[in-house]
Amino acid sequence: MRIEELRSLLGPGRINEDPDIIKTYSDDWTGRYKGFTPAVISPHSTDEVAEILSWCSANEVKIVPQGGNTGMVGGSVPLDGELIISLRKMNNANFSDTHKNQIIAEAGTTLLEIQNLASERGLIYGVDFGARDSATIGGTIATNAGGLNVLKYGTTRSQIISVEAVTGTGTIVGNLNGLEKDNTGYHLPSLLCGSEGTLAIVTRTKLRLWPEPEEKVTILFGFDNIQEAINLTEDCVTSNSEIVACELFFQKGVNLVREAYGVQPLWENKHSTYLLCEFAGDHNISDRLSEGVLGKILQTHNSVLVATTDGERQRLWQYRELHTVAISQKGIPLKLDVTLPLRNLSHFLESIDTICRKINPLCSPYVFGHCADGNMHLNILQSEPKVNALEEEILQFVVSLEGSISAEHGIGRSKAPYLHFQRSENELKLFAEMKRAFDPKGVLNPNVIFSSDN
Ligand SMILES: Cc1cc2nc3c(=O)[nH]c(=O)nc-3n(C[C@H](O)[C@H](O)[C@H](O)COP(=O)(O)OP(=O)(O)OC[C@H]3O[C@@H](n4cnc5c(N)ncnc54)[C@H](O)[C@@H]3O)c2cc1C
Repeated sequence: MRIEELRSLLGPGRINEDPDIIKTYSDDWTGRYKGFTPAVISPHSTDEVAEILSWCSANEVKIVPQGGNTGMVGGSVPLDGELIISLRKMNNANFSDTHKNQIIAEAGTTLLEIQNLASERGLIYGVDFGARDSATIGGTIATNAGGLNVLKYGTTRSQIISVEAVTGTGTIVGNLNGLEKDNTGYHLPSLLCGSEGTLAIVTRTKLRLWPEPEEKVTILFGFDNIQEAINLTEDCVTSNSEIVACELFFQKGVNLVREAYGVQPLWENKHSTYLLCEFAGDHNISDRLSEGVLGKILQTHNSVLVATTDGERQRLWQYRELHTVAISQKGIPLKLDVTLPLRNLSHFLESIDTICRKINPLCSPYVFGHCADGNMHLNILQSEPKVNALEEEILQFVVSLEGSISAEHGIGRSKAPYLHFQRSENELKLFAEMKRAFDPKGVLNPNVIFSSDN
């Protein structure tokens, strides 16, 4: 590989070959995927990204796009010695001159930076999740990230109005016109959302913002069985237009969070199941919540905590948000991120322990997730040996229940061998043709989404 050639094209300060530094880019957040690379390239502009990809394509050099490296499916690290192109230096974000409720952001801007900028105008960005301070806007587009507020605002795909990107040949495509209506042929923002860096590198985007709600109320419910929590979720979603989040978790996960962070027990640990609901809207939400279906539940249900101030709300959220990190402190889990239709969700959740025990009696599953979307995160500690058998069995079970093997984390490297569970042979052929059209030399993230088994 002629890195010197690329260095002379880009100029100084763009290519890092220091082993100590590039190591920090080569391993993923989960600790499961450890890669190696000759160099990390940090462009400062779209033109530089184009220069790099044009060189990679001409020389058939493979390259992995990387944002915050918080991805969960091994898609952001160079497992076969590829180069890394890090977008982190491209992190400017400003309000649009033409639309007051839009931001133009470079791909390396973090979710938190977007959220902070939006709040300067009393606006919010519709996507939020625990890795907000590291995950980049380019990475969230590439994975079509979901998170905590999909119920109200949709996934990342619903926030992106325009996108600029560079294809595998170094061609710059897209625009930043910010037009809400633009049906001029294929819609690049939709196509690139969820493409996981296999078709093009996202360089800039124009994002839609929403009015900031005047008030928020967070309510935590304790239950003794899963179905009751799912029933309440359905009641909230069908009867309350102000619901923005509905998170499910279990006592086992709360125990881990308590052990790691010393937080208070909930109702003396007497419940197995918890549902955290958040409502946001105009003033006096609490009054409106005391009416109708939810009002009756709030009056009669024994284990309810209601939080209205930011501090109280954060105290309730910590039980849910600290799950991911608390689990990672215990070991490297097998991570699954699946969607189930709500009608099959309790059967799925009640079967997980049995499936795990059948394959590996020592493994320990932790489950939590975005209940209204039917999106559950399974983190299975001590999953070795037979980790592949375990993964395959659970994903087959998900498909048999009409679910999806990847809800919001994407396919990456880790789920690529199972994509054919979900997608037909014809669809996979079409995917490969689309990949060839964008990246004929196959230099961009070559083994992400596409596995040799497909
Ligand atoms: C604590 C924690 C909580 C999380 N919670 C959620 C959650 O609730 N919902 C959710 O959806 N995800 C969640 N995630 C997963 C992760 O944060 C998201 O997948 C996020 O979108 C990744 O962004 P990133 O910038 O870190 O991308 P990276 O991890 O760097 O990359 C992810 C993928 O995108 C590609 N990519 C990165 N940048 C670009 C670009 N500019 N152009 C093209 N391709 C690119 C990479 O090649 C890779 O395939 C969580 C992660 C953590 C650590």
